[in-house]
Amino acid sequence: MRRARSIVGVDLGGTKLAVGLVDDALGIRDRTVSPAATTSTEACLADLYRRLDEALSTYGPVDAIGVGTASMVDFRAGRVVLSTNLPLRDVPLRDLLAARYGVPVAVDNDANVACLAEHRYGAGRGASEMVMLTLGTGIGGGIITGGLLYRGASGAAGELGHMAIQLDGPRCQGACPSCGCLEVYASGRAMDRAALETARARPDSALGRALAAGDDVAGPLLSRLALAGDPVAVEVLGGIGEKLGAGIANIVNIFNPELVVVGGGAALAAEVFLEPARRVVVARAMAPQCDDVRIVPAQHGPDAGVLGAGALAIVELFPDEVSGSVQGG
Ligand SMILES: [Zn+2]
Repeated sequence: MRRARSIVGVDLGGTKLAVGLVDDALGIRDRTVSPAATTSTEACLADLYRRLDEALSTYGPVDAIGVGTASMVDFRAGRVVLSTNLPLRDVPLRDLLAARYGVPVAVDNDANVACLAEHRYGAGRGASEMVMLTLGTGIGGGIITGGLLYRGASGAAGELGHMAIQLDGPRCQGACPSCGCLEVYASGRAMDRAALETARARPDSALGRALAAGDDVAGPLLSRLALAGDPVAVEVLGGIGEKLGAGIANIVNIFNPELVVVGGGAALAAEVFLEPARRVVVARAMAPQCDDVRIVPAQHGPDAGVLGAGALAIVELFPDEVSGSVQGG
């Protein structure tokens, strides 16, 4: 039996940089996190090099480096095209790292990488047809078909948060030109908005009292209150879950996945909003696909970025070794 691969996984997010050692058999072995350097492209890259130098001197020789980043990535070219929160535009990150460290490198966006983490190490293990939704500031998506990530003609597939569920809905956020997208109704930012609107409209609710007390009334508080059983918070997140369910019903009709995994930093109270989402899917999606799908929370929280970056390197750089992994689990 061949030896396990050692991969350095890098999660280059808008606010933090996590670097860790990922083993293709055992998952994550070690991980360190620091704030991301965002003042300039040079500072961002210098910080990344410093952290990778440290990691490689600690871990010894590795087989490859995988990078997931909160950016638009041209996967085939290994290039960061654009980033909302990082000073990276048109940076050939794959080639820069490969030249500096002398090992193969793979670079992709954070939603695809999170999807790979769940597929290889989490809730999607063994699945052939899977879709992942990552609820953060926006909603990212990843699609696994035939056990492999689906990338589309230009590597930009999987923007599942930008399916319109209301044609005349509010303008979408960021670079999206559309309106009424799922992201407007069910992202972390939507939860922030719903928490504040509810606090203002219902001053005697726990959210309203928190606002009066000067607390930070946003999605995380809404999630914590809902998990603690606060009825107003449960009702508000339930409404968001129904919107999410409408989006998932579309996904189920189109892709007929066996599994939809919902994760990301804003999915803290997934157990509260996934039940209403499932009810909407049963009501709206067609048979047989709506009978065959399971909708489950992700298994990995903050580790998903590093794990997924490792999974990306394994899947993309050593594909012959993973061809049996879908069946083998
Ligand atoms: Zn949109």
